[in-house]
Amino acid sequence: MTFETLGLSPAVLRALADAGYDTPTPIQQQAIPLVLAGHDLLGAAQTGTGKTAAFGLPMLQRLAKQTPPKGPRKPRALVLVPTRELAVQVADNLKIYARHLRLNVTMLFGGVGMQPQIDALHRGVDVLVACPGRLLDHMERGTAKLDAIEVLVMDEADRMLDMGFLPAMKRILNRLPANRQSLMFSATFEPRIKALALDYLRNPQEVQV
Ligand code: AMP
Repeated sequence: MTFETLGLSPAVLRALADAGYDTPTPIQQQAIPLVLAGHDLLGAAQTGTGKTAAFGLPMLQRLAKQTPPKGPRKPRALVLVPTRELAVQVADNLKIYARHLRLNVTMLFGGVGMQPQIDALHRGVDVLVACPGRLLDHMERGTAKLDAIEVLVMDEADRMLDMGFLPAMKRILNRLPANRQSLMFSATFEPRIKALALDYLRNPQEVQV
């Protein structure tokens, strides 16, 4: 099995070659074709399995296919993560995968000033990697607009629930366009994760590694 057979574009394949990836991991083999086909996805996978590329590669390829409207770009993908550390890790990887695509990846997390984040949002963003609390803060101030979101990813959803982010997540999710692709990853398919999927994903395909 190679990345070529999964349906990825030449620009994405070039980034993978640059990064020295030659074989897709099991979660990548299962998830990439489903996400490229436009399905919603519920994935059970731990960190270290390659799940960032499993959602990131098809997500970036989808965004790169369309020309965004002229003017400052509004985020078209939102990746919700529980912690600042994971935000940095996910954004760093997405930037590697997007290096031959013209896409901007911006992070929003708490514990730092709002203004640099507001400035970055003004300059234009394609992919937002955000912790729920700080994102909600920006939404309430009107500095983050999510009406152009096409792809939502909830990464480590179980940890976000453990950290008490459910109310913030619901407020965010309820303001996203209904016509979007939604992907959710968790270590396990426990009942509260299934319940969240039932409310916010549409006919999700399940993958488990
Ligand atoms: P993740 O589970 O997404 O945090 O990925 C774990 C680590 O594996 C990261 O450092 C990735 O850069 C790396 N990685 C992901 N997929 C592959 C692959 N197919 N081949 C080699 N390394 C990979």
